[in-house]
Amino acid sequence: MDEHTVTPASVKAYLAGRPFALRALDVLRRRCYLISRLVGRPAPVVVIAHRWSDRSAAHRVAHSLEHDWMEAPESSRAPYDQILLRAPDLVVLQLRRKNVCGCLGHRHILVRESPFAAPHEIFGPAAIGEVDIAFEQIDAWHPLPLSDTAIDVKFLSGSRQREFHERQFRLKVLSVFMHELNHLVFPPEPEASVLGRSLEFYREALESYAARALSTVSLTLDRSPSRLRL
Ligand SMILES: [Zn+2]
Repeated sequence: MDEHTVTPASVKAYLAGRPFALRALDVLRRRCYLISRLVGRPAPVVVIAHRWSDRSAAHRVAHSLEHDWMEAPESSRAPYDQILLRAPDLVVLQLRRKNVCGCLGHRHILVRESPFAAPHEIFGPAAIGEVDIAFEQIDAWHPLPLSDTAIDVKFLSGSRQREFHERQFRLKVLSVFMHELNHLVFPPEPEASVLGRSLEFYREALESYAARALSTVSLTLDRSPSRLRL
């Protein structure tokens, strides 16, 4: 039995079951909802609210929640245990290209995304929260200039560098999302502490990814001569 009233399936059913006029309005506004969650965690269900033209970015965000989170070392995820335990059952993640204020993300005091702004029977007493993240600004952001560059130079060769930059982007997205979730769950926690936690998650996850990726690079190089001899 799932004790959580909000599941990806119930959110999907709710969105699909809304009156035709409301769904038509979503189409007119080119508003789309991608349902995701941090793998291995029953809550929160994350609804990535985005514009149709940003669907590729929305899928990259979903990938970070569904894959990169679990691949990050346990020690980097553990500081978020209490935050995730207290997180709302459903979190609307508004995906934006840019924030005019220049911030990478915000927690919202009120839920503004229209399908989730008013209480709905289907969600019962479930708590709903909302954050936003600005993915173009996140892409241009260098959280840890020195160590990012040090790892970057190790991936100078073509395709692996693209792969590295993609992973780096997704881990930055995850770090900003966890940062805003932290603010949402523990509003009084000082910024320095929230920031320290999210940067440390990013640093550890990126270093662990780089160590794994670089070890497979050398493995491929080591094996190629023997393959040639066959
Ligand atoms: Zn902050």
